[in-house]
Amino acid sequence: MAQVRLDHLKKIYPAEKGTDGGKGVLAVEDFNIDIEDGEFIVLVGPSGCGKSTTLRMIAGLEEISEGHAYVDGKEVTNLAAKDRDMAMVFQNYALYAHMTIYQNMAFSLVLRKEKKEVIHEKVMYAAKVLDLVSQLNKKPAALSGGQRQRVAVGRAIVRNPKVFLFDEPLSNLDAKLRSSMRRELKLLHRKLHSTIIYVTHDQIEALTLANRIVVMSMGKVQQIDTPLKIYSDPNNLFVAGFIGNPPMNFIKGYVDEKGIFINETCQFKIPNESFDFLKQKNYLNKELVLGFRPEHCMENGHIPCRVDLLEHLGQATLIHCYLGENKIIVKLPGWLDYEHDSNINIDLNSKLICFFDGITEDRIR
Ligand code: ADP
Ligand code: MG
Repeated sequence: MAQVRLDHLKKIYPAEKGTDGGKGVLAVEDFNIDIEDGEFIVLVGPSGCGKSTTLRMIAGLEEISEGHAYVDGKEVTNLAAKDRDMAMVFQNYALYAHMTIYQNMAFSLVLRKEKKEVIHEKVMYAAKVLDLVSQLNKKPAALSGGQRQRVAVGRAIVRNPKVFLFDEPLSNLDAKLRSSMRRELKLLHRKLHSTIIYVTHDQIEALTLANRIVVMSMGKVQQIDTPLKIYSDPNNLFVAGFIGNPPMNFIKGYVDEKGIFINETCQFKIPNESFDFLKQKNYLNKELVLGFRPEHCMENGHIPCRVDLLEHLGQATLIHCYLGENKIIVKLPGWLDYEHDSNINIDLNSKLICFFDGITEDRIR
């Protein structure tokens, strides 16, 4: 159990020899966070945004180019990985094929020359927590993908580390197994109360697992907040578009003095509250992006859309349609039927509309 503080963390990978420019790759920039004891933090963002690099700097597997890292107030910036008391679980869990599950979980403790009884106690504890007791004498090949991933987690648990680091641990599993492992990790966190830093590109994992989410893009932190805040109160266009599935709808345009939103191919009146807000913020007649989530639309409104196709999810229907020439998705509860090319009139929930500056892409607040 531990607090972790990252202070202006930066990573530049050195340029490869012979390549000109020689500036190297700026992988992570100005990463700051105070992680509380027992927090489940999820770093999320598209591939290549710097998640693994950040995690590896915390673990001590990658040198920190600039900035400082602290665990429980003690600086660890230049400490070797083995001295940081952290355990990392990777996507490819690489179990030793010739060893039993018991031996796999015991391995790091054997290397540390722990007493047999201590090792046994720790392995049995991890096996119980992970429901692997009946599998201990088997070899990895006899286990399912989900069970093998649990063994990889077990190898981390036996070490009783201060911090657990996970790098896309569920990416190799099929969709059904991923969602059940997700719930297992949540239960595990409830049992262990450990500090967990978890990397994923999957926004659903971020929303369902995290106490706080760190959204990253191109090496930079975009927002650090609770899942609810990230979802309902995004800082900018990137966060709004990355979190949520189907994604938020965006339409470019501006709002005139009459409260009409004007886009190249459509026009409609925005709710009075939104108009008052934009007027007060001095955003009339300025380039902006209007954003609204598919599930924040209502039927029988005043904004005409043309239906393209439907996806029935069972409990809800996704209506892909055109607002002018803008493709949008409307999500309505129940099993709805609309003909191709028919009209649907929608309204937007005024409290949940987001506006973004057309140039900076920052949320207008
Ligand atoms: P993520 O885990 O979010 O997919 P990474 O942290 O692996 O992203 O990579 C961030 C950036 O750093 C990418 O542009 C990647 O190509 C680059 N990078 C990662 N590892 C190295 C390395 N060892 N040498 C040079 N560049 C690297
Ligand atoms: Mg990665």
